[in-house]
Amino acid sequence: MIPNRLPILAAMMLALLLAGCGGGGGRDRREPSRRSAPAQPALPGIESREIRQCMARMGAAGFQFTPLPDRRFGGACEARGSVQLQNVGVPISNLGAMRCPLAETFAAWSRHAVLPAARAYLGTEVVRIESFGTYSCRNINGASGGRLSQHAFANAVDISGFVLADGRRITVLDGWNGRDESVRRFLRRVHESGCKRFRTTLGPEYNALHANHFHFDMGRGPFCK
Ligand SMILES: [Zn+2]
Repeated sequence: MIPNRLPILAAMMLALLLAGCGGGGGRDRREPSRRSAPAQPALPGIESREIRQCMARMGAAGFQFTPLPDRRFGGACEARGSVQLQNVGVPISNLGAMRCPLAETFAAWSRHAVLPAARAYLGTEVVRIESFGTYSCRNINGASGGRLSQHAFANAVDISGFVLADGRRITVLDGWNGRDESVRRFLRRVHESGCKRFRTTLGPEYNALHANHFHFDMGRGPFCK
């Protein structure tokens, strides 16, 4: 299919870019930044190969995306090997940078879990998946101390709701324990599918902070609640 060629081309261009930057790819994150020196790529060789393979798989699967340049932010926050998803078969609001393995898993979850579950349990199509976003430089649960969240590495996404073709809008907040059994079953089905795909899946049963969204990430795990 012709639309597949665009992302593959983009991935190939990135691969060429990365190949051209090879050598001296140390992994030392403590290396001080030197403003006078030209920007150094942060990608070590193994990771860049994994990322290239990830992008090739995404292209082959027909997911459209744009590779993003690696970025380091304040503290240890960074987005490496990340992409901007363009088209996974259903529009998704609020998506920013996602590390490729997260984007690939998320795109597959959207296509193979969300869309079929809506048909099966709700008898309609999902026309939009609503997200609270992906990259955010913050600690776990927004605490002032403790470990950085996977969001700080563009390795997590929060999903808050689903807009349906019949006009309904289902939210995790109202639907998880809502009156409509089919909605409850739909939400539990896509949460359960998330548990099988992502390293960590959190929902309303985890804690009050997740009452209004599903958190999916590709960090530590497996963990499902
Ligand atoms: Zn989250």
